Amino acid sequence: MKPRIYYTKPSITELEVRYATDAATNGWGEKCYEYINRFEAAFKEHLGVEYAIATSSCTGALHMGMAALGVGPGDEVILGDTNWIASAAPVTYLGAKPVFVDVLEDSWCIDPARIEAVITPKTKAILAVHLYGNLCDLDALLLIGEKHGIPVIEDAAEGIGSVYHGNRAGSIGKFGAFSFHGSKTVTTGEGGMFVTNDAELYEHVLTLSNHGRARGQTKQFWPDMVGFKYKMSNIQAALGCAQIERIEELTRRKREILSYYKKGLTGIPGLQMNPEPSDTVNGAWMPTVVMPKDTHITREALQQAFTTENIDARVFFWPLSSLPFLDSHAVNPVSDGLPGRAINLPSYHDITREDMDRVISVLLRLCLQR
Ligand SMILES: *Cc1c(COP(=O)(O)O)cnc(C)c1O
Repeated sequence: MKPRIYYTKPSITELEVRYATDAATNGWGEKCYEYINRFEAAFKEHLGVEYAIATSSCTGALHMGMAALGVGPGDEVILGDTNWIASAAPVTYLGAKPVFVDVLEDSWCIDPARIEAVITPKTKAILAVHLYGNLCDLDALLLIGEKHGIPVIEDAAEGIGSVYHGNRAGSIGKFGAFSFHGSKTVTTGEGGMFVTNDAELYEHVLTLSNHGRARGQTKQFWPDMVGFKYKMSNIQAALGCAQIERIEELTRRKREILSYYKKGLTGIPGLQMNPEPSDTVNGAWMPTVVMPKDTHITREALQQAFTTENIDARVFFWPLSSLPFLDSHAVNPVSDGLPGRAINLPSYHDITREDMDRVISVLLRLCLQR
């Protein structure tokens, strides 16, 4: 058996180990928030936003952000159907309903042209998820949001390193949410970040994130409202400080991997990969291939070929509307059609050229042998 090629794996250097060791050794008492404060400051600077709150997950950041926007029982939040459950789950926590809109054939992100048809008086937000590093058409989304008085929010968990018309993904909407799960470009093991430029929204989420205790509250142990407990630990933040110092290197490497795959696969006619429209940068979190529509090469054939070669490649996201417990009756042909002919390729930072060549040759063999 050839050695296993993993799908994702964090890039951990001496720097991460040094900071985490310091946090575990010294980061207590007076210093218990030191790395958290540093990580938030560094992240704000990287992203170009006013406010940031480190969280235990992106799911938690989305939950608090939407709670602060007033999303509640009976409300609706619009998002693309092709998505990971983490984008929709916080909507349901608040008693609201995720409304799934079909995605675009090329970016696999929400199709702006299909949004207005599902806007109702209950619509409280449009959630732009930058899938696999690919950017949503934010200009179009913001225009729709403005027209209907609905905030556009960004799930940028997969969009770190992506830039839209000069601004970083996650910094453009009413608020943005990031994930530092172990599979993401920047990791703290588990973790997330809430970001915004809105001072009022920031104060509200800050209070929510502190179990409802407002900053100005002088009474001890006195919550001003029911809040949440989605905090990041100082030790996780220490890992984050090291990762954010290396952000240029981490995203550059992700982009190198995507472009190496693209170059190696140019021979396959009609093959689609993560796009990079003009005046944007794709952070390239997850290199993904989608076979041409009329292809006979199915997800199962792709999975089988990679399994045989001991390569961990993963399936494309299922349409969330197909999950029975979400009780959606949306009909979204593009989102339905994509997963049957697509696969995610291994892309951890330390993957070698030889391993990428092995991945490429699996696809070339499968596609060109017929
Ligand atoms: C990973 C991911 C999340 C969830 O992040 P957690 O930190 O695990 O909560 C949310 N949205 C998207 C698009 C993701 O890829």
